[in-house]
Amino acid sequence: MKVKDLATHRIEIIIKNSLESARYDLKLAQMQAMIAKRISMRYRVRLPYEIRQLFCKKCKRFIVPGINARVRIGRSNIKAIRITCLECNHIYRKIIK
Ligand SMILES: [Zn+2]
Repeated sequence: MKVKDLATHRIEIIIKNSLESARYDLKLAQMQAMIAKRISMRYRVRLPYEIRQLFCKKCKRFIVPGINARVRIGRSNIKAIRITCLECNHIYRKIIK
């Protein structure tokens, strides 16, 4: 296993844990997410898409749907969802393929 793969693997585990923690301790979840991000920067690995979308594009905080993020389905024909970060109220859209 390459170092980068190992780093990605560790990040995935940490993020999984932080999603669990978010249910009862958002601060702890934020901390874990920060650690994961730090690992990604240190090893220069790109975060997988599913993980990247858990970070607000504006305030960079870790956002968990149903906890500090609101997810709404768009009304238009285009299959898109609207994610609202409840930390900074930034809204962004995501197209579902
Ligand atoms: Zn935000």
